[in-house]
Amino acid sequence: MYKLIGIVYFCTGLLKILPKLQFFIKTKSFHIQKSMLVKDITNYLENIAPLSLQESYDNSGLLIGSPISNVSNVLITLDVTESVINEAANKNCNLIIAHHPIIFKGIKKLTNSNLTQKLVVMAIKMDIAIYAIHTNLDNIIGGVNNILASKLGIINTKILMPKTNGLSKIVCFCPTEYIENIQQALAHAGAGQIGNYDSCSFISTGTGSFRPLQGSNPFVGKTNQLHNEEEFRIEAVIHNYNLQNAITEMIKAHPYEEPAYDIYNLTNTDENIGSGLIGEIENAMPIQDYLMIVKQTLGTEYIKHNELINKPVKKIAICGGSGSFLIDAAAKNNADLFITADIKYHDFFEYAGLMTVADAGHYETEHFVKELIYSLLKEKFPNFALQISEESANPISFI
Ligand SMILES: [Zn+2]
Repeated sequence: MYKLIGIVYFCTGLLKILPKLQFFIKTKSFHIQKSMLVKDITNYLENIAPLSLQESYDNSGLLIGSPISNVSNVLITLDVTESVINEAANKNCNLIIAHHPIIFKGIKKLTNSNLTQKLVVMAIKMDIAIYAIHTNLDNIIGGVNNILASKLGIINTKILMPKTNGLSKIVCFCPTEYIENIQQALAHAGAGQIGNYDSCSFISTGTGSFRPLQGSNPFVGKTNQLHNEEEFRIEAVIHNYNLQNAITEMIKAHPYEEPAYDIYNLTNTDENIGSGLIGEIENAMPIQDYLMIVKQTLGTEYIKHNELINKPVKKIAICGGSGSFLIDAAAKNNADLFITADIKYHDFFEYAGLMTVADAGHYETEHFVKELIYSLLKEKFPNFALQISEESANPISFI
């Protein structure tokens, strides 16, 4: 009898919570991340930091593994080391995303005769894909230097050394009724992005002239007759990394069998792409005080610097990692302080007393990149398994 009452109570209770349970199941299943391929993640990252923005010496991109293999778990690291690969295996991560590429130069054999070969073999044997996002992430707004700037309280930043070879102009000609389609196609492919504006283009009118030959299928005009058509000329600036896509989209949107278009290389600087950042701290302060903040924030054991400037610091240039090639650019931009890493002995002489040059360590100025990659991926794939490596550590010790 008690059993029967118990069953009745159980069933009534179940009926009460059933709608809630259904809702819970629905909501949860809605949020569960579908299975992902390596390329789902790498395409997203390359949309933010296109591979074409990497420096010539670099080797960013997918280094080991197939773009169409499944990913269930990602490990984010600054460097790929033996312990990081083991950590990935232990945590069932089948994709490692690193800032520094483990392969820089061509490998002619895999005989475990150096560290790179050893790591490559190890990752392949464990079926772990490795992807590097290096100088392409250094060279964009919102990249490695931006997270460093935000940690160091540097605001109103701009690129320290903007690139001069990253822009082109796309010009195309179309009949009146297609102007909107083509403008939209170009804008959608990234043409006309200038600073905080998009869809920028210039339009002018003129007369297009052509003679369709035998075998053609003209949108307007007749075979073997010279034809004049009132046309619009649309021109827009475009980043080179978007160029091919913009040409394809423009041709798709164009009614002509043979759309006419021109591509011009521009020598304009691209203020949104380049090396280092320069900005300022909110309130000027004695240089010693600020360097102590830097030391604490970056967790560095020491900062090497030249002769300190004899005035409060306000304008600061930075470059995470090896940035000594930017010392002159920092000085030309009137920085009071330039923070980077891997500065050579002789570089400490040039601006002594005029601009403080501080070497705060390579690892120390770059380790926030793990946090950056994590937050970029988390924003796009909120329910996907992502982990920051606990093994990725500074290879340099101090006594
Ligand atoms: Zn680095």
